[in-house]
Formats: sequence, structure tokens, C-alpha cells
Amino acid sequence: MSLPADAHVHSQFSWDAGSDPASVDLMRRTCARAVRIGLPALVFTEHLDLEDAWWVDAGDFDHHEEKYVDPDGMVRLPPFDLSGWLSSIEACRHEFPDLRILTGLEFGQPHLWESAAASVLDSGAVDRVNGSLHMLPFRDGLRAEPMTLFRHRPAADVLWAYLDEVPRMVDGSDVFEVFTHIDYAVRSWPSETEGPFDPRVFEDGFRGAMQAIARSGRALEMNTRRLWSWIPEWWADEGGRAVTFGSDAHTPELLAHGFPEAVAMLEHYGFRPGSRPEDPWTLR
Ligand SMILES: [Zn+2]
Ligand SMILES: [Zn+2]
Repeated sequence: MSLPADAHVHSQFSWDAGSDPASVDLMRRTCARAVRIGLPALVFTEHLDLEDAWWVDAGDFDHHEEKYVDPDGMVRLPPFDLSGWLSSIEACRHEFPDLRILTGLEFGQPHLWESAAASVLDSGAVDRVNGSLHMLPFRDGLRAEPMTLFRHRPAADVLWAYLDEVPRMVDGSDVFEVFTHIDYAVRSWPSETEGPFDPRVFEDGFRGAMQAIARSGRALEMNTRRLWSWIPEWWADEGGRAVTFGSDAHTPELLAHGFPEAVAMLEHYGFRPGSRPEDPWTLR
């Protein structure tokens, strides 16, 4: 079976993957693994996070964020190294000529940061822009990740706020083509106190968010970090016509993680590949 492109992959040029000394050649090792496992194509979608009001509770950040947290509790990320990234992409294309290597970004909150991103987006160097909703309004003009918000607010309120923000992001930006990991807030769902996450409790919210994404003509990413059958099922119900596959790998080992199961699931709901491996699959 020929796998679709992994359209959500990070290299050392993503701030949350590049801080370890061992990750200096992460892009190269990821390409080498793609060739080894027969993956025909991948898209390096590096984080483009331009947040200037990102709050993290003390003790809440992971070791990648830790080095970017200032004493005032705000996360301040270094600028994205566009030229270093592009030369690394070129070197990999030269070393792995049979692998299709595309350029992409995972743009956080594009509806808030579109103008600030203009220099990168207008460079003409980016094949694919994934739009991600990682942060929501917190307090005093600050924004925070769901993981932080779950400590301060009822869990259901955080989930509803996330789903309510999706149409605002979709309507508020033209620069992204794919909506990523719609289950992002579920990743940090506090199941210890709330019990296992039940999507049916939030079904109207997910369906409404999917309607907005579908109406805008965008693709929805099937993020294979976790596979949920209700995502492609509800997406097809709500008018969604295109999907991409993304492992969200930050290490070579997770490249194309879960892809055979995801492919089987999407085929079940009627989605079929395009002519190139990086083309979104569409509902026929
Ligand atoms: Zn993300
Ligand atoms: Zn990602």
C-alpha cells in the first residue's frame, strides 16, 4: 500500500523540537526514515508562533517551553529561521532525490497574526500552510493553551470555548489551507477528574466547527497522534470534502504514525487519494 504524504512534520527548525543538542540533524534523520519506510512525500510544517501574550503557569511548561519562559511568566519565542530552514530543505532534497519534500508552516492563531507573518508568507517559499488553534483568551489580554486553561476553568467551558473559536479563526484568515488537529484541546483533557473524554457531549460544537471549516473550502487534517472515527464521520456529514494526513511528528520514529489505520478509516468514509501523494484526499 502506498501511503499518503505525511503533511504535518516538524524538524529542528520548530522551536519545540529544536532545543535538544541531539536534534541538530532532525530533518535529515526524518527524511532518511521516510525513505526507509517507503513514505513517498512529507511536508515540513514548522511552527510559526508569533504570540506576544502567551501565559504559562509556573510548573506547567514542558522542557521545550521552559527555556523560553521569562521571569514574568510569559513565553517569548525566537524568530523562525526561514533562510536556515530553506537551505536545510535544499540539502535534504539533494541527499534524498526520490523523496518529495515540501515546505510548510504550522501557523498558530492565524486570525490574530496574519499581518505579522506577511514576510514569511509572502516569501513564496512555503508550499502549504496549516492553521492551528493552540491558544485561547485567558485574562487581562493574555492567551493560554488549553492545558493551562483546564487548571483555571471548568473543563467543559474550555472545550466549548475552543470549539467556539474555530469559526472565528476560519473566517478571520485567508492564509491557511488546512485546519489541523481539531481535537487539540482533547489532548490535555483532565480525565483524572472528568473521566474519559466523551465527544458526544460536545457533538454540536464539533459539528459547528466542522461546518465552518467545510464552508470555507478548507481541508481538515486527520491528526494521527490520536485516531477518532467520529472526526471523519462528522466531517463528511457536515460537508467536509478534503482531508490531509498528519502525524505531527517531532521525532523520526513518529513519522507516519498510525497511517495505515487512518487510511483504512478514511477509505471507509469514502475519501480517496488524489494524483500526487501530497494532494488532499477527497470524498468521492
Ligand atoms: Zn499543533
Ligand atoms: Zn505540530
